[in-house]
Amino acid sequence: MSRNILVVEDNIDQAELLSKALKKHHSEFEIFITHCGKNCLELCRTHRFQAILLDYKLPDYSGIEVLQELHRLGIKCPVIVVTGQGDEKIAVQAMKHGAYDYVIKEPNYIKTLPRLVVNAIQRYQLEQKLHEKDIFLENLVENADAIIFSLDKNLNFIFVNSRIQELGYNPDELIGRKFSSILAQKINPDNLIAMVKNPQKRNYELDFKDLKGKTRNMLVSFTKLKNKEDIGDQFLGISKDITEKKKLELQILESKIKLQTLFDSITDSIVVVDHDFNIVMANRKIADLHGITPNKLIGRKCYEVYFNSNKPCENCVVQRTWNSKSSEFFEIARGENVYQYWSYPMYNLKGEMEYVIEYCRDVTEQKKLERHLIQSEKLATIGLLASGIAHELRNPLNIIETARYYLEDVFSPQNEDIRSKLTIIRRNVQRASNIINNLLEFSRHSAQDREEIDVNQLIDKTLALIEKDLTSQNISVEKRYHDVPPAFLGLDSLKQVFLNIIINAIQAMPEGGKLQIETYSPEKGWVEVKFTDTGHGIPSEHLPLIFTPFFTTKKVGQGTGLGMYVSHSIVRREGGDIMIESQQGRGTTFTVRLPAEENGLMKQHSSTQQAK
Ligand code: ADP
Ligand code: MG
Repeated sequence: MSRNILVVEDNIDQAELLSKALKKHHSEFEIFITHCGKNCLELCRTHRFQAILLDYKLPDYSGIEVLQELHRLGIKCPVIVVTGQGDEKIAVQAMKHGAYDYVIKEPNYIKTLPRLVVNAIQRYQLEQKLHEKDIFLENLVENADAIIFSLDKNLNFIFVNSRIQELGYNPDELIGRKFSSILAQKINPDNLIAMVKNPQKRNYELDFKDLKGKTRNMLVSFTKLKNKEDIGDQFLGISKDITEKKKLELQILESKIKLQTLFDSITDSIVVVDHDFNIVMANRKIADLHGITPNKLIGRKCYEVYFNSNKPCENCVVQRTWNSKSSEFFEIARGENVYQYWSYPMYNLKGEMEYVIEYCRDVTEQKKLERHLIQSEKLATIGLLASGIAHELRNPLNIIETARYYLEDVFSPQNEDIRSKLTIIRRNVQRASNIINNLLEFSRHSAQDREEIDVNQLIDKTLALIEKDLTSQNISVEKRYHDVPPAFLGLDSLKQVFLNIIINAIQAMPEGGKLQIETYSPEKGWVEVKFTDTGHGIPSEHLPLIFTPFFTTKKVGQGTGLGMYVSHSIVRREGGDIMIESQQGRGTTFTVRLPAEENGLMKQHSSTQQAK
């Protein structure tokens, strides 16, 4: 910081006196003396001064001229003009031309001058600082990326920065106008004042309208400025244009909704989990399974939600995906159900794996169908084999029977022993041909045989075949027929099924009883026939064996153990089923479930079989 003081005084004595007085007052002052304007300007070009004492009357320039020149040179320091007595007017003129202060050459002015100079320097520095601060603030306000304004107590604009031009307004024209005049929404003036004044809430989302009437979304913050009491409150407002941000937010929200809708439309369960198995997103399906909204699943552990477990599963797909960073698969059976789990890595914008998508599908039905299909294929193969064997056995059996017949013809009347042996042969040939017939029936079944069958009529016809046995064994038949749609499968096969069941029922009631037959349609596309007898029933340990081939509880010659196996296979192959309920000593119910004609699915099913 220079301590240089320039004294411009043509009177050499005066200049000396001044210099001494200044030095005395402030020993650090470095005094430069010059006697003319020209020199003064020269010195100012090469040195920096803290103050200049300028005698108004100089031999070459007038004080005004020096002042003008100093101004032109951009010299920044207080210039104190020294004038003779009676020249006050000139002093005032000098002030107008940029002099900082003036001193009149009164008798003892040299005494008071040093203090005046020091004061002037201090004041000037202070002003300079203030001025710099002003410039700084002005720059700040004008260059801020926000509309900055101040309002008076009635919310009229006192000041607006030039950013308001972005909305088409001229800052100067807004001064004195109401703040509400640039608002797009109507707000009750009292409410608006309350909002602006509210010390608790400073930020508001307000809509400004630009000069063309287009709405801009703004985030405005208000602060009360401390002011003198006489002019009342003033407020500072800073508002940022958040139109684009809002638009983006809306877009994000929209795409979020779209994503969630997509997510929810998937009929399998999906969750997105973080590194600690916490669910961060869940779709509606899995939420529905738990009877809650997807939001309620967020934050819960996936193993808890899926398996009601308190630790991650062994072989967990999520963990595997974290390790492998690729898709993983896992199948698990829970009770009667089978589930498949897939997991996929989910990356963030930086390309880091952030979450894992866990996708779960209940494949119980699919598995059942698969099993069914395998079973059908197996049955078809067995059928083929069986028919081959049956055909091959028929001829030797015929030969045996013919030979037996011949022997019987020749020996029977004479020898009782031979006759009984021949009867054994006959019974066993009969049994063998029964087996063959069953096997053939089983294998003959094919899609071509399918037709519409009036089930009630078919039962009647079947009953007619064995009417004799029924009456001889004292069995009454109770028919409960309902209007049912036609069943759709092979007529002979179905006849065989009914016959097998009815014969079994008769055999289960050697002391007589009642056979109830009910037909009904449990649901669209299906016909069911219930055969209920009052026979000896089936012990529970036998129930799982009834449909196994060659399972019989009957004496040799009476049962082959194929009847129910073949019947069950036929019905199952057609998509239907046979169910058994039995109570030992009380009776048995066989329910035969058959595809009906309107069961479109079955038709499709059979046509694909046909194609095979
Ligand atoms: P089979 O009649 O030649 O023995 P099936 O396959 O027709 O062979 O029947 C298998 C077994 O199921 C029978 O031996 C019998 O034990 C049992 N069963 C079938 N129907 C009935 C019924 N209505 N009541 C009691 N047991 C039955
Ligand atoms: Mg039988």
